Amino acid sequence: MPDFTLTTDADGVATITWDVAGKSMNVMSQAGFAELDGLIGQALSDPSVRGIILTSAKRDFSGGMDLNIIARMKDGGAGGIFDGVMRIHGILRRIERAGMDPKALKGGKPIVAALPGTALGIGLELSLACHRIIAADNPKAKIGLPEIMVGIFPGAGGTTRLVRKLGAMAAAPFLLEGKLSDPGAAKAAGLIDEVVAPEALLARAKDWVLAATDADLVKPWDAKGYRMPGGTPYHPAGFMTFVGASAMVLGKTMGVYPAARALLSAVYEGALVPFDTALRIEARWFTSVLLNPSSGAMIRSLFINKEALEKGARRPAQPDQTVRRLGVIGAGMMGAGIAYVAANAGIEVVLIDATQEAADRGHAHSEDLLDKGIQRRKVTPEQKAEVLGRIIATTDYAALAGCDLIVEAVFEDPQVKAEVTARVEAATSPDCIFATNTSTLPISGLARASQRPEQFIGIHFFSPVDRMMLVEIIRGKATGDRAVAKALDFVRQIRKTPIVVNDARFFYANRCIIPYVNEGIRMVAEGVEPALVENAAKLVGMPLGPLQLVDETSIELGVKIAKATKAAMGDAYPDRAVDRVLFAMADEGRLGKKAKAGFYAYDAAGQRSGLWDGLAASYPVADLQPDLTEVQHRLLFAQVLEAVRALQDGVLTDIREGDVGAILGWGFAPWSGGPFSWLDIIGAARAVEICDALTARHGPRYAAPDLLRDMAVKGDSFYGRFAPATKAA
Ligand code: NAD
Repeated sequence: MPDFTLTTDADGVATITWDVAGKSMNVMSQAGFAELDGLIGQALSDPSVRGIILTSAKRDFSGGMDLNIIARMKDGGAGGIFDGVMRIHGILRRIERAGMDPKALKGGKPIVAALPGTALGIGLELSLACHRIIAADNPKAKIGLPEIMVGIFPGAGGTTRLVRKLGAMAAAPFLLEGKLSDPGAAKAAGLIDEVVAPEALLARAKDWVLAATDADLVKPWDAKGYRMPGGTPYHPAGFMTFVGASAMVLGKTMGVYPAARALLSAVYEGALVPFDTALRIEARWFTSVLLNPSSGAMIRSLFINKEALEKGARRPAQPDQTVRRLGVIGAGMMGAGIAYVAANAGIEVVLIDATQEAADRGHAHSEDLLDKGIQRRKVTPEQKAEVLGRIIATTDYAALAGCDLIVEAVFEDPQVKAEVTARVEAATSPDCIFATNTSTLPISGLARASQRPEQFIGIHFFSPVDRMMLVEIIRGKATGDRAVAKALDFVRQIRKTPIVVNDARFFYANRCIIPYVNEGIRMVAEGVEPALVENAAKLVGMPLGPLQLVDETSIELGVKIAKATKAAMGDAYPDRAVDRVLFAMADEGRLGKKAKAGFYAYDAAGQRSGLWDGLAASYPVADLQPDLTEVQHRLLFAQVLEAVRALQDGVLTDIREGDVGAILGWGFAPWSGGPFSWLDIIGAARAVEICDALTARHGPRYAAPDLLRDMAVKGDSFYGRFAPATKAA
């Protein structure tokens, strides 16, 4: 089945229709490009064809390039990638020139992109090479260039064309942030030319083709006297843009994302030369980004494996477990958030708390979020009413009848949870699945309160529930496959990304993040300059330094977790040095952001105003400070060694989940593709070397796990060794 077909009507208007067989969304492949090129050539050379409409038979135009192909492109080495990219430039440039005389700029055939819906990545880049872009007025459509989100940048001329079309400043949010727009906003921003009623799309495209003149086909950058909007880098106005953009990009990315830097370089250098040379420059920088291990790791974790997990890579073979009616017990911060995301996904929700007032407060949380959505024009008043209508807030357990899944989010107290478990089981049918949202209590222990332990599971959400995309599903010792399938189907319904882990203290995400926070605090106690700790974290791509993170999650919570962990571990408890700082902060009432006092100082409005200067009184800053790399290694290895131990101990059973979960769960340096990808980038041998050095200076918590040592000896990588079992791409 071809991806593209060509038909020509009686008026000589050819329509090339994109319709990749067996896929709900068109994606571009190498074969697709060759076909398209062939059909464009055929239409341009056919004297009976007056012009071409490029459109899609599907609801959408295109989701972009097949990223599996991009991931494999690097196999061809630098020369292979560059030649491949230049071939794509050649095809798009042929569309843009459309057979016209390159000097006289006459005699070409008009080519219009008619977009019925979403056009992302190559879908938009291809359209930008056409002479006009007309989109159907489809509010669900997304138009933009999201490449930067997976560690690459638009490399099929999208970068060069958009900057020349809009100017560097106006193009920046689309290129650097991957901003997506609906058709109306895309038209207002100048990304596309026209928005028409969906049923008028093809007729309007045809009218345009038949009315187009030679001048309509000449891109501004191919016309004489072209000047880039906003100016080139050596123009006084352009200079300001480029200087500002470099500072802004480095400020936001801390220089750790190679794609953002390469994109800026392609834009800057491309702006100084003619269009075709700029395309070559774009291709060179694109090649360098593809060869950087960060891009491959980001594509693998943030696109290929994330999607595989969302599509049920870890789902046991079980009949459909779609949730129809959900019970949420505890309408506090987490329960209210869970009720909201479920109702938003069309699920009926019974939200229970101990008092009607508390249950109503939980219901009001959804109302607040929906009102914010209305303000941002993402939600209509009708949708708000519909979503709110799905949530029953009550104290009456009898309302749970008919629920097929319960998520318990009451206080983190085993006794309270046990009572709730018993009450819920008495009120629900025997096949109802019970999930706890506990963040610290082992699932197998909580399951002892259940009459149906095989139907008892952990579904661990992150806060704030509506924004955090990861859900950690925890299998207790007795948890059965149907409970796992139920949890996975629920996570699919609410459009989040699941990982499935085995039961152990702190499961996976918290197990790795707690040592990160603790290492930051330990350094403060040792006299490391707190600003060095925080900046070292950010300069290696962590979204929050450890001190800011503990402020935001609450120092009080940190104290509670430390006490519970110490009680459980006894003499083996390793973090007394950390606790001295943490407990002292709590004793002084510095409980974190909520209390407007923590490792940071806050103003009256609760805005962070800088690190708290009182820290130095209790923890004097040492004269001799460690270098940046040492601090970064301590912070990174605190996390990744825990991830390796989780794999070694069988808590993690799939490294894809380890990487995807780390990035989505606690923001682990996304440029690296996750802890396992990062270890693969530096190599097990180097990792062990660093562990040995850190152990010598800071103690046995940095001892390389046996698994890592074994891999170093054998020269293995994580994705190399675990790929067959995990089917990683
Ligand atoms: P919260 O204190 O905001 O809410 C708990 C709610 O449960 C309160 O509204 C309380 O009235 C209600 N409740 C207590 N006992 C009850 C009972 N017997 N019957 C019905 N309702 C009862 O707490 P939270 O932050 O929402 O946390 C809830 C659970 O989620 C805890 O197990 C916590 O460990 C876990 N969790 C919290 C976070 C987080 O960041 N806060 C993240 C992941 C998981």
